Amino acid sequence: MAKKPMLLSDLFHETLKDIYFAENRLLKTLPKMAKAAQSKDLQRAFTKHLRETEGQVKRLDQVFRIIGKPARGKTCAAINGITEEGAEIMKDFKGMPALDAGLLAAAQAVEHYEMSRYGTLRTWAEELGMPDAAKLLQTTLDEEKATDSALTKLAKSVVNVEAEQELLSYPMFLADKRDDLPDWRVCEQCNANRCPPQPTVNLE
Ligand code: FE
Ligand code: FE
Ligand code: FE
Repeated sequence: MAKKPMLLSDLFHETLKDIYFAENRLLKTLPKMAKAAQSKDLQRAFTKHLRETEGQVKRLDQVFRIIGKPARGKTCAAINGITEEGAEIMKDFKGMPALDAGLLAAAQAVEHYEMSRYGTLRTWAEELGMPDAAKLLQTTLDEEKATDSALTKLAKSVVNVEAEQELLSYPMFLADKRDDLPDWRVCEQCNANRCPPQPTVNLE
């Protein structure tokens, strides 16, 4: 029996199911990320995007309605992988100064995945003659892009604060900036002044 030809409309439907799964997964992940974040600004950014994500799922429901198919997801290995990486960071960096930088990086990986999916779907919706669907997808694409930009801005401030904290707790890295640092000493392992920080040294 001949195989049923797979058309662009089939690909559109499959990809819609993919991003539907991803968005629904993120509804569960974003609250965890907000809870884990140390910076209040980062917590707020995650909570704000959680609310946006609820609206994005509703928009996808509308697109499913436009193509006359039930709103159903299909496992997206990519979002599972990205969120698993995020979970690993939350576990390994719990209580550490670099936690927020790691959360930001994971969140931006998510936004970039979503941006690629929504950009593709929007273009296909136009090609398939569904301007209403294209508009809905464009609205969400704009939200994902705005979230990504907001996270980039936050990344700069959060990472700066974290870097300062590290400098304070690891005087090894201050050595070439502050000559008068009394606690500074050459690393015992490699005999150089730039090696992985040794948290045993305390400035106070
Ligand atoms: Fe989204
Ligand atoms: Fe996927
Ligand atoms: Fe998003």
